[in-house]
Amino acid sequence: MEITHIEHIGIAVQNLNEAIKFYENVLGLKCYAIEEVKDQRVKTAFFMVGQTKIELLETTDPEGPIGKFIEKKGEGIHHIAFAVKNIENQLQTLQQKEIKLIDNQPRKGAEGLDIAFLHPKSTFGVLMELCENKENK
Ligand code: ZN
Repeated sequence: MEITHIEHIGIAVQNLNEAIKFYENVLGLKCYAIEEVKDQRVKTAFFMVGQTKIELLETTDPEGPIGKFIEKKGEGIHHIAFAVKNIENQLQTLQQKEIKLIDNQPRKGAEGLDIAFLHPKSTFGVLMELCENKENK
């Protein structure tokens, strides 16, 4: 595995607008993008912290992954995303090591990144995402 840095930390929130106010007014961060990712049934808001982002996630569907997460566990940290190179190769290597994957192939996430999730059963309880920015190397 070749991880370059923590790309972002995904945080599930009930109300994106209320959460944005906290991140801006209390933490002093600036929301630089709001984007709906239809595939994952979420609306996302991004903040830059050094070279790492905070990704706030509000569900657009109670049955979506974030809706179910909040119902079960409440608001809080949802996943951690690592920036990698050659995401396809990384997924292959993980499969060879019999790590359980949610995505066997990368798909498109927010900000045009190629992303894939690892199953928390194989990662000591943490939902992990790999992402690669192919457009901006
Ligand atoms: Zn993410």
